[in-house]
Amino acid sequence: MAKILVIGGSLGGLFAANILLRQGHDVTLLEKAVGSLDGRGAGIVTHDALADALREAGITVDETLGVSVTKRVTLGADGASLGEMPLNQVLTSWSRLYHLLKENFPKERYLQGKNVKSVTQDANTVSVTCEDGSNYQAELLIASDGIRSAVRAHVAPEIQPEYAGYIAWRGVCDESHLSKYTLDTLFNYFGFCLPNGEQMLGYPVAGSGNDTRPGHRRYNFVWYRPASEEDELVKLLTDADGQYYPTGIPPLKVSWKHIAEMRKAAREILAPQYAEILEKTGLPFLQAIYDVRSEQIVFGRIALMGDAAFVGRPHVGMGVTKAGDEAMVIAKHIAALGPTPAALEAYGKERLALGQQVVARAQYLGRYMQAQGSKGERDSNSLKRNADTVMAETAIDISTLLAEGKAVPDSVH
Ligand SMILES: Cc1cc2nc3c(=O)[nH]c(=O)nc-3n(C[C@H](O)[C@H](O)[C@H](O)COP(=O)(O)OP(=O)(O)OC[C@H]3O[C@@H](n4cnc5c(N)ncnc54)[C@H](O)[C@@H]3O)c2cc1C
Repeated sequence: MAKILVIGGSLGGLFAANILLRQGHDVTLLEKAVGSLDGRGAGIVTHDALADALREAGITVDETLGVSVTKRVTLGADGASLGEMPLNQVLTSWSRLYHLLKENFPKERYLQGKNVKSVTQDANTVSVTCEDGSNYQAELLIASDGIRSAVRAHVAPEIQPEYAGYIAWRGVCDESHLSKYTLDTLFNYFGFCLPNGEQMLGYPVAGSGNDTRPGHRRYNFVWYRPASEEDELVKLLTDADGQYYPTGIPPLKVSWKHIAEMRKAAREILAPQYAEILEKTGLPFLQAIYDVRSEQIVFGRIALMGDAAFVGRPHVGMGVTKAGDEAMVIAKHIAALGPTPAALEAYGKERLALGQQVVARAQYLGRYMQAQGSKGERDSNSLKRNADTVMAETAIDISTLLAEGKAVPDSVH
């Protein structure tokens, strides 16, 4: 049994902490935030590997995990279907996964209000100091402390998030608020709408209290829109009182003026079904889209995982699945090689190139989106894409492509 510290109590950290605890290790998780993280997340696309990681974390996976869809549809600006594709998927929500993982992990090991400020290591031990002055030592440290990882800032300060040039408006709308037209033509599907250089997508998720009964669910949407870094992004990250939030605006602070402008644009360029969803969503929020690409994820007794290691733009729909995968691989090598730098080294060897491929695929999908719209009319530099390719490539299971090193088509290299 080894002492292991996990930094970050979101989904990645909870995967690692649960799996390593079940292996018999003495795991302590340090989370910066105080109180529940719930209420800020929205929909998550599931893949088989996510279910595997949940099982390995000791969680029963059954039909209550999420809402099933059987089809994808792309809507034109007039609301008519531009194309359809059969695809079975289960869509869950960030809060559903958070509760499953958090409730499975002993409270006394999940320490909150622990803002890690510094990390040091020697031949036998890794130590962290938190803002409140507390210190913790362990044999290994697993950092899943997100896109602006404090641990990464110590071990690899050169790795920085890079803005992708667009933002995503997000939110969830109650099923019971929607018209029959939108329910019949969109609600039950993984849907898309492709204005030039933009992309709207959405799918049904459970409603309040994880209620998956028809009539009680919600529609989760993500609308990608370009925003120049110096000008538009700064405005969007500034609240109605003029306060600027450079690393992300809290959902409740998003300016009502920006929400009004976004809804106006929705009426002008999106299918009416999506415009209705945006009108009837109580608190739409936004986030800037970034890439994080690491050249190294293991530093002696410290391993980076989850968003601290790599962030692929959400088009790949696998941020959480990737974190679950990484947690399983870390645990596998610790089981084989003990709680040693060699075990983390083996994790790095197995996952570095895969993480880089995920980022590359996400960039490839994003570039196509930025280059053109639904009918290929803004074809530039031979980037050619239409509703069928968007439906076939977005948020699908790419485990086979990753294993073959083909996450990005050869023609794009
Ligand atoms: C509130 C929230 C909502 C999200 N909603 C969605 C969603 O709807 N859809 C989706 O696909 N993805 C969502 N994500 C991202 C998704 O959870 C991640 O892609 C996935 O969990 C893997 O990232 P991670 O757990 O490694 O990092 P993150 O999820 O970013 O979590 C990092 C954690 O580390 C903590 N932390 C940061 N710095 C420190 C520090 N110095 N000391 C201690 N702790 C620290 C943070 O408070 C946070 O809890 C959300 C993330 C968060 C935090």
